Amino acid sequence: MDMELLVATHNEHKKEEIQQILGSECLVKSLTDYDIHEEIIEDGDSFHANALIKAKYCFEKTGIPSLGDDSGLVVESLDGRPGIFSARYAGDHDFAKNIEKVLEEMQGIDNRKAYFVTVLCYYDENGARYFEGRVHGNLLTENKGFKGFGYDPIFIPEGYDRTFAEMDPEEKNKISHRRQALDLFMDFLKVID
Ligand code: IMP
Repeated sequence: MDMELLVATHNEHKKEEIQQILGSECLVKSLTDYDIHEEIIEDGDSFHANALIKAKYCFEKTGIPSLGDDSGLVVESLDGRPGIFSARYAGDHDFAKNIEKVLEEMQGIDNRKAYFVTVLCYYDENGARYFEGRVHGNLLTENKGFKGFGYDPIFIPEGYDRTFAEMDPEEKNKISHRRQALDLFMDFLKVID
């Protein structure tokens, strides 16, 4: 575990989750560990742009190899919305209102296809590298289940008959968009090791 990785988050839970997945590949640090307390302004126009903004900011501030991420829900029949606006679609991090807005916009629409996506950007002295994970599925017309967060109660992944909000975290995390992106990142770390 000789490499330090700075993850562009103040969220200790996110840091721990990434540490668990990456295991002994590297030692994961958060912004808080580096005494960086500002909010990074995510004003990019794509998941890739936002992940890059975060990772580049961290690397330029510290010189430590850094990881930025951006995730969201992309709905086919809504032209990709809520997309990069997933966290604040109706109200800032108000999951119930965000779901309500998506369901309202989808009223009467038969095509319920959607996917969750995570884009990771790794930034070091060689510039940016991207890793993307997606999980495809369908949206219900009403909430089911109480676990998870965000849009989990209306999303049924392909090949399942339960929503993410009806799954235990271990089950969701095996197939999630975040997990797939982190797996690709981990393969990359092994190569550059
Ligand atoms: P973030 O980029 O990981 O902060 O995700 C942005 C937003 O996308 C979250 O606030 C959620 O609304 C939505 N989102 C991302 N990942 C998930 C997930 O696994 N389940 C449900 N919602 C998610």
